[in-house]
Amino acid sequence: MSADFDGKVVLVTGAGSGIGREAARLFAERGAHVFAADLNLDGLEETRDISAAGKIEIFGVDVSSEEQVRAFLARIEKDAGRLDAAFNNAGITGGTYRIEDYPIEDFDRVLTVNLRSVFLGMKYELPLIAKTGAGAITNTASVAALTGPGGMSAYAASKHGIHGLTRVVAMENASRNIRVNALAPGWTETPMVVSNSAQNPAFADLARKAIPAKRGGQPRELAEVAVWLSSPAASYVFGQMIVVDGGMTIGGFEL
Ligand code: NAD
Repeated sequence: MSADFDGKVVLVTGAGSGIGREAARLFAERGAHVFAADLNLDGLEETRDISAAGKIEIFGVDVSSEEQVRAFLARIEKDAGRLDAAFNNAGITGGTYRIEDYPIEDFDRVLTVNLRSVFLGMKYELPLIAKTGAGAITNTASVAALTGPGGMSAYAASKHGIHGLTRVVAMENASRNIRVNALAPGWTETPMVVSNSAQNPAFADLARKAIPAKRGGQPRELAEVAVWLSSPAASYVFGQMIVVDGGMTIGGFEL
């Protein structure tokens, strides 16, 4: 096992479940001191308890609240004095409606939780990473940052927004060796997706058939890429969105 993160301090949001949980575990296994944040405290405790190796500290944080994000970063600075990598990953899907029917308050909520949170995260992470000397930020977007999934206008808008924010902040920080990138998962079998699939097996079957790899991704397969993007192995990757989707967005035909 590599120990790329020995002595490093890493922040992970949405660490109480799915991709964020696996990323927190992997960072810790590779030596990092992980500051794990989520709204779901039970989920966070499970993340901490199933991690055999490394140090994971857990914090109840609403990533859409400026006050809470600022306090979280102040706590990391006070306790650890540095920040080497941040994985801004918490997110929600929102409901599925045609735009004419989309409730405006639901649209605002998805944009606030998914996009404002990434803006706030980077705003308060960057000064501490800069003080540390160098580092990496990875934001979780989605294949919906590249496509137009019907019924998901708020989600797709938020994820397209994360792609744009990532590029801008990458440009603003590349010369001081802070790398900012995005991860775009495809259909990933996190608890939410697994329970939706159980409720709607016909849809799940259709989705799997539409993926060239003929299966959903496992949270660990996404977390591996997030950890790689944060590691020295990705030292020349700046401002990119890495798509990890079993080929879902290839867009060709199988012969
Ligand atoms: P998940 O529901 O398992 O995990 C998301 C976590 O974010 C949850 O623990 C939830 O409590 C937390 N969260 C939600 N709102 C929050 C808030 N305001 N403050 C703090 N924490 C909050 O889902 P996941 O699939 O692991 O999702 C992780 C990221 O991956 C999300 O940004 C999601 O949009 C993205 N994504 C997932 C898929 C997929 O198929 N699972 C596909 C594309 C993109």
